[in-house]
Amino acid sequence: MATGTIRRKKTATKTRTPKMTFCWGASKTEGNATQKQLLGGKGANLAEMTSIGLPVPPGFTIPITMCETYYSEGGRMPSGLEDATVKAIRQVEKETGKIFGSETNPLLVSVRSGAAVSMPGMMDTVLNLGLTDEAVQGMIALTGNERFAWDAYRRLINMFGDVVMGMEHGVFEHEFSSVKKKYGVVLDTELSATGLKEVCLRYKKVYRRHVGAEFPQDPHKQLLHAVEAVFKSWNTHRAKTYRKIEGIIGLRGTAVNVQAMVFGNMGKDSGTGVAFTRNPSTGEDKFWGEFLIDAQGEDVVAGIRTPKPVSKMSGWNDKIFRELIAIKKKLEKHYRDMQDIEFTIERGKLWMLQTRSGKRTAASAVTIAVDLVKSRLITKDEALLRIPAADLVQLLLPSFTTKSKRGVVQLAKGLAASPGAATGALAFSAADAVARAEAGEDVLLVRKETSPEDIDGMRHAVGILTSTGGSTSHAAVVARGWGKCCVAGASALHINATRRTVIIDGRTYGENDIFSIDGGTGEVMLGEVQRHEPKPSTAFLTVMKWADQRRRMNVRTNADSPEDAKRARLFGAEGIGLTRTEHMFFEGDRILAMRRMILAETKEKRENALARLMPYQRDDFVGIFTAMKDLPVTVRLLDPPLHEFLPHDHVGQKEVADAMGIKIGVVKRRVEQLHEFNPMLGHRGCRLAVTYPEILVMQVTAIVQAMIMCKRKRINARPEIMIPLVGTFEELAQLRTLTLSTIARVTAKERYTGKFNIPIGTMIEIPRAAIVANQIATVADFFSFGTNDLTQLTYGYSRDDINTFLPQYLEDGILVRDPFQTIDADGVGKLICMGCEGGRSVNPKLKIGICGEHGGDPISIEFCNTVGLNYVSCSPFRVPTARLAAAQAEIRKQ
Ligand code: PEP
Ligand code: MG
Repeated sequence: MATGTIRRKKTATKTRTPKMTFCWGASKTEGNATQKQLLGGKGANLAEMTSIGLPVPPGFTIPITMCETYYSEGGRMPSGLEDATVKAIRQVEKETGKIFGSETNPLLVSVRSGAAVSMPGMMDTVLNLGLTDEAVQGMIALTGNERFAWDAYRRLINMFGDVVMGMEHGVFEHEFSSVKKKYGVVLDTELSATGLKEVCLRYKKVYRRHVGAEFPQDPHKQLLHAVEAVFKSWNTHRAKTYRKIEGIIGLRGTAVNVQAMVFGNMGKDSGTGVAFTRNPSTGEDKFWGEFLIDAQGEDVVAGIRTPKPVSKMSGWNDKIFRELIAIKKKLEKHYRDMQDIEFTIERGKLWMLQTRSGKRTAASAVTIAVDLVKSRLITKDEALLRIPAADLVQLLLPSFTTKSKRGVVQLAKGLAASPGAATGALAFSAADAVARAEAGEDVLLVRKETSPEDIDGMRHAVGILTSTGGSTSHAAVVARGWGKCCVAGASALHINATRRTVIIDGRTYGENDIFSIDGGTGEVMLGEVQRHEPKPSTAFLTVMKWADQRRRMNVRTNADSPEDAKRARLFGAEGIGLTRTEHMFFEGDRILAMRRMILAETKEKRENALARLMPYQRDDFVGIFTAMKDLPVTVRLLDPPLHEFLPHDHVGQKEVADAMGIKIGVVKRRVEQLHEFNPMLGHRGCRLAVTYPEILVMQVTAIVQAMIMCKRKRINARPEIMIPLVGTFEELAQLRTLTLSTIARVTAKERYTGKFNIPIGTMIEIPRAAIVANQIATVADFFSFGTNDLTQLTYGYSRDDINTFLPQYLEDGILVRDPFQTIDADGVGKLICMGCEGGRSVNPKLKIGICGEHGGDPISIEFCNTVGLNYVSCSPFRVPTARLAAAQAEIRKQ
């Protein structure tokens, strides 16, 4: 009995101890590709590549759970982790036949971060770990290359000091420069073994001075410190900023990968590279990437040297090239997707250091998805799910026409790193780019190369231009991920960030100069260049066709002009979900007529002014109905408060008074009368129509007349009238009656006897409307959720001022996302559900849509699909995004 109890207890304790390391290697591999949430993307894939027989240096992963424990225990290393790493190192020693810290045959390892979602360059890495005063002798013995060994040691001390101990990189730089000077050399590569040994001694001294302790001579201590540094790097400002920008949420931390080092810098038969199994810009099925001979991996990524394309590799080492092509095929077949790989060749032997699903432009994502379906590697549904819906906007991005480029001064040419076309003034630092962009200026961020610290500036700039680095450098990878135009490695640029100038061909350009960069060709041009709309590819059309076959919801657009309507229709819009009629009042003479109407003191004068406005409105509607013929067009009656149409400054008011031949005092008085403390809650929406019914009458008259004019020209106009900001049954009931009588009067006056149906519906954008939707639905033919106002009124956050506190809210995690971009499913979403249920309880066939900004946001679209909306409506450029997102939502539902 007693023994049994003890035994049970023991077993229970054992199962509770979390596994602290997962190794991979020829004799034993413990993880696989499905374990990204535990091992991180890098660790899971290193294990997987090993399992499928690819050459991977052995190593082990410390799982994400350890990072989580580190933080939950207030920044203390989890107990037992030290012993576990010692044991795991023993396993790597067994695999490699080398010994950690040995003075004859030392094992060196790299220590790298690896979260479940890739965050390129955002967290810390330490290379050559395991080198000590003794092990460096071992390296000399092992490689017979003294210079190499001391070079590796000085890199470790530098990286360890910098990354693990938080020392300034500059103090090492200073020592290195002074030794180079002493030996009379300019380039790092010219420094002899003796010189490098001296660098190591000096580095150790500055290390001691800054850290207050000797550089650790116990490799296991080095390792433990490095692991902790990687854990810490999970929560650095730059990592947090990156996650925020990328919308990466819900991750628990990073894993740490400890892997036997292989060296690409051991001479001319060594090298390193980064490549994609297909072209990440275009999707073309061609091995694509870059490599450097006699270099370490970081040299490629950091953009310090300009690498060669992999297509040139067979000229250097044909055997390796063919081996890589075979691996490309194997990986694609295995992962059923395009891969982004890192490899190193050490003295003629190829090693794989990473594989992951490759980041790609939207164009490439579409092409690859279609190609993989054709080669039967994935299904159509999988293809649709693989394309990030929001990225489709990139395919609709402008580019420079060949014609518009004629006569433009070509300043330089770099690599076409990320597509698009951007024009802006030059900003030479990230901070500058942020400040100027926030002040409303279009700026190009011009840097020698970018680093993760520049992330905010890159985000704010309209485009990115660098003078060094390749297509896989930081700037290129990040820009491509965002669909931001980027030209990298334009080596003719000599940038002086301190002076804020760039010299090209002997001419100096400064902050006020405008450049245009072409991310499709790599051209850098002086001044502004005209841009043009893109043409969708065949693959894009195929994807759209598949998406349309798969989605349940309709996709409409928000458009206020025939041009926007036409464009949206080309993008696949199935009607207009929102025409904001107020946008039609600002152009040309209309604003004058509008102001006359607002300034009118009597109903009669107001009606006269409205009569002048009516033809403008009618003609605009004819244009829009024609562009959208056969498709529904929801016209929303006037929504904003009237004061928005009057000038608030003296000069403007004087101009209005002069144009109308009235005294400025009259204008001023009216502006004062219309003043509201909170216009968002004020005299707007349906309240305008209740108090000034003649405005509604004019707008409805214009709509009906326009419809009749179209019908008489055999254009099937299908208007729908939408009444904004309704909060009570009575409001809508009253305005519906007025709308119906106006329709009847106009059709009678026009002697129109043809068939027509003008549904009259309402926006649900006031919380009360959602709550009493069952009442409102008895007088509404359709509902459209105005989630901009609904969000504003549900949270009590002003749409216009939220940015005064939103950044802090996001930073503190009070809000996970901007609720004006993505629907707040818990709060606003609940009101939407109530609105749908209430509305459909009295009219099961009630057509319900959404026309707030959320209608173009993939996460919100998924929500709309789940709650059973009939359509989403969004801006023209987001229509393809919405079509795809609606299909993805439907696929995920099943
Ligand atoms: C809304 O409130 O969601 C809406 C579409 O209307 P507007 O943005 O014009 O207020
Ligand atoms: Mg609104």
